[in-house]
Amino acid sequence: MDLQEAKKRVDELTATLEYHSNRYYVLDDPEIEDYEYDKLLHELIDIEEKYPELHQPNSPTSRVGGKALGQFESVVHEVQMGSLQDVFSEQDLRTFDTRVRESIPNPVYVVEPKIDGLSVSLEYRDGVFVRGSTRGDGLIGEDVTANLRTIRTIPLKLAEPLPFIEVRGEVFMPHKSFEDVVKAQELNDEKPFKNPRNAAAGSLRQKNPKITATRKLDIFVFNLQQIQGKEITSHSESLDYMKSLGFRVSPSYKKYENIDDVIAEINRIGENRNGFGFDIDGAVVKVDNFTHREKLGATAKYPRWAVAFKYPPEEKTTKLLKIEINV
Ligand code: NAD
Repeated sequence: MDLQEAKKRVDELTATLEYHSNRYYVLDDPEIEDYEYDKLLHELIDIEEKYPELHQPNSPTSRVGGKALGQFESVVHEVQMGSLQDVFSEQDLRTFDTRVRESIPNPVYVVEPKIDGLSVSLEYRDGVFVRGSTRGDGLIGEDVTANLRTIRTIPLKLAEPLPFIEVRGEVFMPHKSFEDVVKAQELNDEKPFKNPRNAAAGSLRQKNPKITATRKLDIFVFNLQQIQGKEITSHSESLDYMKSLGFRVSPSYKKYENIDDVIAEINRIGENRNGFGFDIDGAVVKVDNFTHREKLGATAKYPRWAVAFKYPPEEKTTKLLKIEINV
């Protein structure tokens, strides 16, 4: 591909990715599967790597999430809500480990399932829930406090009256709730949600909290964004502490000192992927120690101290099986 062809392809990919990004993040109504989107995005990343002069500042490869719809108040995130670099193979994980070890010779990693929902920030003053917002484009999100209050696993009051704490979590719809919602939508001749992620986003980003309350959403808190009145030095310590405050934190978080054990845990999560009762689309590997994280730093879009391993898309065998049985 010469420069002229590459430029043409970059323009096509940018337009296509912007269209699907808007459908996914802003309208909560995707038209293509995530792996198809990821394939197009990675094609663009590859071209931009080969021809850096074609990389535009607002390329879909440098942007996080989507713009707010304007139907909620805006919230400016004091601590940016970024994204994660995704990796797809054992080799990518080993490359990540090698890069980390160039700055941190003996890292400790935490591995957690990656929940497929939408990212939110929860803020507490004097131990009381005061504001909750969506990630939006990472810098500005939407104020969905009233809707978040309806999620029973979000504590409205913490076990300790800390002056201030902001945590980040993933709101998701458990499979059981998703089945109930889709059944009700079909009975009412409404357009059913495509998948639990889309259902969670649609249920959280609508104007009537009474409807959100019927959707039985849930949350896992996976990050400490800011805290006053307490010293915390590592991610695993922060998860233990947030748990003690009353948050429902990541369903599992295990610490490892070498990449072989990290890979084994990622494989274990992948093998059990269908048994969680909610969608997971990967596993996240994070450097545990906060000082080590600072040393590793971040790019414009991603931290250098974490990666998200994405499992390959699952074969849709259930439908086929049904047809075979009926025949
Ligand atoms: P990402 O997949 O790059 O991962 C980062 C997100 O993972 C965080 O924002 C957080 O919300 C979430 N997460 C869940 N559990 C976590 C944990 N334990 N630790 C840390 N983070 C955790 O997310 P993204 O930037 O929101 O979006 C990219 C995804 O959206 C891709 O999978 C892409 O396919 C999909 N997408 C799909 C379409 C489509 O049309 N189908 C369009 C745009 C984006």
